[in-house]
Amino acid sequence: MLCLQGLGVVKGFVIGRAVVMGAAALEVPHYRISSDEVAAETERLRSALRAASADLDTLAENLPEDAPKEMAALLSVHSMLLNDPMLEEAAAVLIAERFYNAEWALTTQGQLLGEQFALMEDEYLRERGADVRQVIERVLRVMTGAHSALPADGWDAGDDTLIVVARDISPADMLKLRGGRFGGFLTDLGGPTSHTAIVARSMNVPAVLGLGNIRSLVRDGDTLIADGTSGAVVVNPSPQVLLEYRRRQAAYADERAALELLRDAPAITLDGVNISLEANIELPEEAADALAAGADAIGLFRSEFLFMGRSDLPSEEEQYQAYTSVVKTMNGRPVTIRTLDIGADKTLDGETTVATNPALGLRAIRYCLANPELFLTQLRALLRASAHGPVRILLPMIAHMHEVKAAYRAIAIAKEQLIARGQAIATNVQVGAMVEIPAIAIAIEPFVEALDFLSIGTNDLIQYTLAVDRGDSEVVDLYDPMHPAVLRLISNTINAGERTGKHVAICGEMAGDAAMTRMLLGLGLKAFSMHPQQLLDVKKEVRESHTNALRNKVASALNRAQRIDLNDL
Ligand code: PEP
Ligand code: MG
Repeated sequence: MLCLQGLGVVKGFVIGRAVVMGAAALEVPHYRISSDEVAAETERLRSALRAASADLDTLAENLPEDAPKEMAALLSVHSMLLNDPMLEEAAAVLIAERFYNAEWALTTQGQLLGEQFALMEDEYLRERGADVRQVIERVLRVMTGAHSALPADGWDAGDDTLIVVARDISPADMLKLRGGRFGGFLTDLGGPTSHTAIVARSMNVPAVLGLGNIRSLVRDGDTLIADGTSGAVVVNPSPQVLLEYRRRQAAYADERAALELLRDAPAITLDGVNISLEANIELPEEAADALAAGADAIGLFRSEFLFMGRSDLPSEEEQYQAYTSVVKTMNGRPVTIRTLDIGADKTLDGETTVATNPALGLRAIRYCLANPELFLTQLRALLRASAHGPVRILLPMIAHMHEVKAAYRAIAIAKEQLIARGQAIATNVQVGAMVEIPAIAIAIEPFVEALDFLSIGTNDLIQYTLAVDRGDSEVVDLYDPMHPAVLRLISNTINAGERTGKHVAICGEMAGDAAMTRMLLGLGLKAFSMHPQQLLDVKKEVRESHTNALRNKVASALNRAQRIDLNDL
């Protein structure tokens, strides 16, 4: 029996047999060619790249109807990387100048690109290094004639659930795994925003990533237990351990079934306080998940995902269609769309500026105000979508009142442009700000007066309050949502909302952590926005809480800037 610890990214228990996927990059031949072989070797590289690219195109054109909805976008990211001259031309130079064989040239250049991604500050972009690796693996498999990393046999022996063990799983291979008897994914690489995590979440299959070297420790057919909540993995468990995990698996299934019953129950506390449970989405298609989970609203639509991973900007029409589809899906429930939160490290394709301190640079609202045409295009699309249902415009990274005023001016101009065109817009579009910079939370009064609503972005608020980079694993221990300074800023913002009757939500990760629900209720929070999958867990906590007692306890601790022990609440 062997116990491993990774990163649980999709909750749930799975017990089954291992299916180990090959990793071509680990097994490539490295040798030097002679100068008269350069032309043929370069051609071998180019034709493998073309064949891999054609494979991807075929997959994308024949996507089955029940494929996870992110799949088309993921395949196009891979296609883009595959056709990037940074890969092909740079590898060709290694063949021509260093006389590397094609496989060696390709893996060397891939490693270099991967390292460049690894240096990026933004977690999403950092994890795109994994996509480079997967693309390289695909080309290497073409070169070796093994077109798939999936084993050719051994899939259907017995009735056991199968658990895929891999170094990494590409979106294209995920597609092949869909619908089979695959009950779990375990990988050496990958983090919470890797594509493996994204797709596993949409397939709702327990997954543990970042296990380091599980692929070398497990053989086909080994019995595996994986706990997607804690990230624990047990290889060839003893009968007692197996029994214990079967018990936990059954208890978890009962718990989920009980939670499902809460889907249509109101989110109301024992002392009658109504709580709004809202959903965070990144792609328009996810609105359906939000609705299915019983969300009262979309509390945060991160619109930057419409802008990333492409070489052009989405047009007003494209954005209008995307926003409108969410508004229509939500069928009268409010839809909060955040204007583009991009800049500095999260660059649009083709932009090369690297700020000295990207998290403090020209990003989000600062970027939009500096690029009025881009901002106006988005605002027009948002205002047009408001004709189909309640749209709330959410401004990210606000720190100054002059930014709020400039944003209002831009909204007024966008409205005038639409009226001049004779296009329909709603008269009552609400405008709010993210509270994610400490300055606004400390001096909140003019902001709460000027705006219709506020949404606290605790992910960034914690980072800026504690001066801890939210994506830097070396300081992860200092990233502390429970720091009294952070809680005081949240409390100040919620109190300002109470005094003025304005809607105040939290849309950072804290809102979806059921362990924090009682504490947040104690701070007076009445609107929580989170990933749709977290909604029922939070609803259960809400329905079992009494806010009066919680508010007293939390207030007395905060008055003394004391840490709150969640177990005492
Ligand atoms: C936040 O900062 O808490 C937030 C919700 O926004 P993002 O995670 O997109 O920065
Ligand atoms: Mg933020």
